[in-house]
Amino acid sequence: MSIPKNTTNFALDVKRHSFSHILAAAVQEMFPEAQFGVGPVIENGCYYDFILPRTLIPEDLSLIEEKIKEMFERDLAFKKHEMGINEAITFFSSRNQPLKVELLTDLKIRGTTKLDEIESEIVSSGANTVTLYRLVDEQTGEVLFEDLCKGPHVTTIKELNGDEPGPNSPIIKDGKGLPIDYKLDKISGTYWRGDQKRNIQMQRIYALVFENDEVLGEFLYQRNEAKKRDHRVLGQQMKLFTISELVGAGLPLMQPKGMIIRKRLEDYLWQLHKNRGYSRVWTPHIAKVELYEASGHAAKFGDELFRVQGKEESFIMKPMNCPHHMQIFADNQFSYRDMPIRYFEPATVYRDEKSGQLSGLTRVRAITQDDGHLFCRINQIGEEVATIVKVIKEFYETMGMMTNYWVSLSIRGDDGKAYLGEDEVWKQAEKALEDAAKDNSLPYKKVEGEAAFYGPKLDFMFKDVLGREWQLATIQCDFNLPERFDLSFINESGEKERPLVIHRAISGSIERFMGILIEHFGGRFPFWLAPEQIRILTINDKVLDYVSQITAKIQNTQLELPLNHNDILYTVDSRAESLGKKIREAELEKVPVIFIVGPKDMEAGEVSVRVNGEEKKAKLEELSEFLKGV
Ligand SMILES: [Zn+2]
Ligand SMILES: [Zn+2]
Repeated sequence: MSIPKNTTNFALDVKRHSFSHILAAAVQEMFPEAQFGVGPVIENGCYYDFILPRTLIPEDLSLIEEKIKEMFERDLAFKKHEMGINEAITFFSSRNQPLKVELLTDLKIRGTTKLDEIESEIVSSGANTVTLYRLVDEQTGEVLFEDLCKGPHVTTIKELNGDEPGPNSPIIKDGKGLPIDYKLDKISGTYWRGDQKRNIQMQRIYALVFENDEVLGEFLYQRNEAKKRDHRVLGQQMKLFTISELVGAGLPLMQPKGMIIRKRLEDYLWQLHKNRGYSRVWTPHIAKVELYEASGHAAKFGDELFRVQGKEESFIMKPMNCPHHMQIFADNQFSYRDMPIRYFEPATVYRDEKSGQLSGLTRVRAITQDDGHLFCRINQIGEEVATIVKVIKEFYETMGMMTNYWVSLSIRGDDGKAYLGEDEVWKQAEKALEDAAKDNSLPYKKVEGEAAFYGPKLDFMFKDVLGREWQLATIQCDFNLPERFDLSFINESGEKERPLVIHRAISGSIERFMGILIEHFGGRFPFWLAPEQIRILTINDKVLDYVSQITAKIQNTQLELPLNHNDILYTVDSRAESLGKKIREAELEKVPVIFIVGPKDMEAGEVSVRVNGEEKKAKLEELSEFLKGV
């Protein structure tokens, strides 16, 4: 393998790569008859493929780890060695390494070993020589392992063990001499060179390799948490949504509880817009092919479009809402006094993604954008963007995702890419976005060459509670669509003037955002968003009349934050089960607020409340106030 020098963490990749040879050496020690495939660096570590005399079991991993540990105790160095191809073929034949021989033969005949990405440049591309690396014990001179490899590697194993890199080490510049920490992660079956037909079965050992034990520990913790929080699992357990084979993959169905969350998100998004000059619009799910030919989307989305053949005309399931909104604007004679015009529509769009890529709520064929388009003059960009930024900040503050976010300001590059629109207009729009970013103290990075061909944009990256980054909100200037649809308004001189369009989405897509939220909250939604907000548990039937006084109070409570509504969702569990069982069930189902009502509470005119496992008392008279403070 070779490691490109421009990778983000070159030193770590060198360490990970070097580790793959140590792993192979340990496996060879355990199975002297092992045959070796390849061992590339991957995300979070590396793997190595082997043909072994028996199938590995999970317990083998700790035995191999033991051997690796012993190697770390020794004075081992990576020594480079050049060899002629023919000599190398003879060498690996004599060691019974047919896979290495195959690679070398390929190199000799075809000039490359490349079959796919992973196998690229396994050996030196130099004319007739190849590079071998030997893992040598500096004390005894013993050669532990030899591999066909271009490097680079650390010079000594001690570098992986905390010692400063040696003078010839490739990581001397950026290596801090920090010890790595590693863990053999899992075993899987695979085929030599991924070729099922040849049926050469191999076993792959994955290793996690990180800078130190802290990072490794953090990775393991987060992976475990992510697994527990998987929205596909929680969505099923909590009956939030359903993927039906008959309806089709990537077309999630909202169960009643999921729909409550979805509706509240939509309502909240609309609440954030309605007093900021936005108007609701609505558009159908299909439109004539001609609309998307005019907009350019027919060409852009190509075979991702769902086509619908009517009796007389051909239609397309909309892949974007923008062209529809252009038509709504076009059917008005707006003057400069009316500008900006702002439309808002949470609308479902359809894209024929490959079935293998569909998953839960995050990779789907039907996505609902909380879409909005605004039509404005170039000198209005700043103010409009500032308003959208306020909405974005308020929304993500509520979701608890405002820590560690950053914004990509995507502008033109001089990469020869064709950009649509006049140079002067671009300059003004880029400046307006950057000014808005500065004025609103957004932590932004300017990314050249990342602008869309139709205009510059701001993309917002938020982190969830596990530190995973998601590209969610976006604000995009567009000079193209107004041109294509010949949009205009009448300016101060009574002439037609072309507006520009700003596309904006706050959550990105409601389905994907719900998937992220389920994992972010681990199913424990905040009070305002929970599909069942309160469960009332009775101790016996004598309190039932009192319970109806409580529910009347709940019904009369008007909640204010963050979403205005007077529709608190509660259930009453008056089954003749033990209180302990009822509490356990309510907690398992992640109901945020649990009321416990017994005769003593009734006498005292109180309710016992559990919020996040904490016990409190609330007076019946003050129940509304209490709920506003939850
Ligand atoms: Zn190597
Ligand atoms: Zn749009």
